[in-house]
Amino acid sequence: MQQTGSSTIKFFNGEQIPVELHKVRIVQKLYLRPIDERLAAINKGGFNTFLLNTKDVFLDMLTDSGTNAMSDNQLSSMMHADDAYAGSQSFYKMEKAIQDVFGKKYVLPVHQGRAAENIISKSFIKEGDVIPMNYHFTTTKAHMELNGGKVFEIYTEEALKIKSSYPFKGNLDINKLKSLIKKYGRENIPFIRLEASTNLIGGQPFSIANMREVRKVADENSIFMLLDASLIGENAYWISQREEEFKHTPIKEILQTMCGLCDLVYFSSRKVSSSRGGGICTNNKDLFLKMRELIPLFEGFLTYGGMSVREIEAMAVGLYETTDETVISQSPSFIKYIVDDLDKSGIPVITPAGGLGCHIDAMGFLPQVPQEQYPAGALAAALYIISGCRGMERGTISSERDKDGKDILADMELLRLAFPRRVFTLSQTKFLIDRIKWLYLNRELVGGLEFVEEPSVLRFFMGKLKPVSDWTEKLVAKFKEDFGDSL
Ligand SMILES: *Cc1c(COP(=O)(O)O)cnc(C)c1O
Repeated sequence: MQQTGSSTIKFFNGEQIPVELHKVRIVQKLYLRPIDERLAAINKGGFNTFLLNTKDVFLDMLTDSGTNAMSDNQLSSMMHADDAYAGSQSFYKMEKAIQDVFGKKYVLPVHQGRAAENIISKSFIKEGDVIPMNYHFTTTKAHMELNGGKVFEIYTEEALKIKSSYPFKGNLDINKLKSLIKKYGRENIPFIRLEASTNLIGGQPFSIANMREVRKVADENSIFMLLDASLIGENAYWISQREEEFKHTPIKEILQTMCGLCDLVYFSSRKVSSSRGGGICTNNKDLFLKMRELIPLFEGFLTYGGMSVREIEAMAVGLYETTDETVISQSPSFIKYIVDDLDKSGIPVITPAGGLGCHIDAMGFLPQVPQEQYPAGALAAALYIISGCRGMERGTISSERDKDGKDILADMELLRLAFPRRVFTLSQTKFLIDRIKWLYLNRELVGGLEFVEEPSVLRFFMGKLKPVSDWTEKLVAKFKEDFGDSL
């Protein structure tokens, strides 16, 4: 029998294969360029995958943000959007969708996830505050620090291990939470933040059991709980697969349980509803009123919040679709397929599979590349050259330098291959796996990178690098030897 909530289906030959439970009716042409053109493109882009043009990219796995496929129902809803500055019917549809899916009465629209972080940080954080969380997200931390807060990541010991069979690496460490409250005082802790499917540590979920423990501590200390629900669908899916109590619970109920344990929920619609925009919701009128006055100032009037009415319509439909098992299981099922296959082949990849993409451990993959020469950046460039697949460096390049100009070496050097929802097929997935395996066999050919143009802030977006030796030529020569004229 097919497992509830999974699009992984058992084949007669015994294999478990993720199957696309949708049909493709609008397509976009992709370009798989010859390897010499890919080499030229990455050279032009300064060995930074952010600087590639998608006309040179085959499988774009840079991010899942705003790149998920929309459904026929989402697209058609956009056609009857109600253009109005105030009181748009589209907004009331979206408000109802948020109330139905997240179970919260008061709703505020924002133009994207980080805008919600701005509103929440401005409303609740004062100078010197301390914010405990399972793990930070780049924009979250920036907004909290901008408002004088300090972020404390109190993840469990399992969280940063590459290889693990621990099902909930996104859990918050309860003992660390208690000592943090004791040390800083609950009056200096505006809220506890939980991030569903912790983005930066491999899309790893937390359990509802863990949420309940956090809730207990929050109640004992009268601190409210904030949920970043940008990747809540995938977290709920993993709960349905891995948490005994919820194995037969519909996703819709798991979502309600998760949100029910938190006082305030915000999300980026670019992820959770395969559309654009974002939102904040709560059942607490005081919290709502405090944030509400900032919306017209930073986002726009209360019935559009910086979004177009078309985006609002697509969000309303997309939120309901997030509660559909066959929709929400799609991307994690494919991610699990990639992760399990690579892991079986001895390729260092973060296990167990998470909810955002496949994360390859570049230090394990390229032990010959010192961390000062950016192994994750080198691996991202090498994979692009040999496959046309674009991932994102999440390592030291994404970090910064200290006051003396020395690199702050990252905890982990990861190549993230995001897997947007319902965008790629199984044969494309197999192509990716095949090329990663080839690269692993030929990994000793890959060398490091060095900066040639380095912006002082967020250097990973616009910085340019070059190889430290002639390793790219050698890699291309070996590829041609093995694949001939094939792409
Ligand atoms: C993407 C993301 C955000 C920010 O959302 P944007 O819409 O990109 O501004 C916040 N939190 C998490 C967990 C995310 O993945």
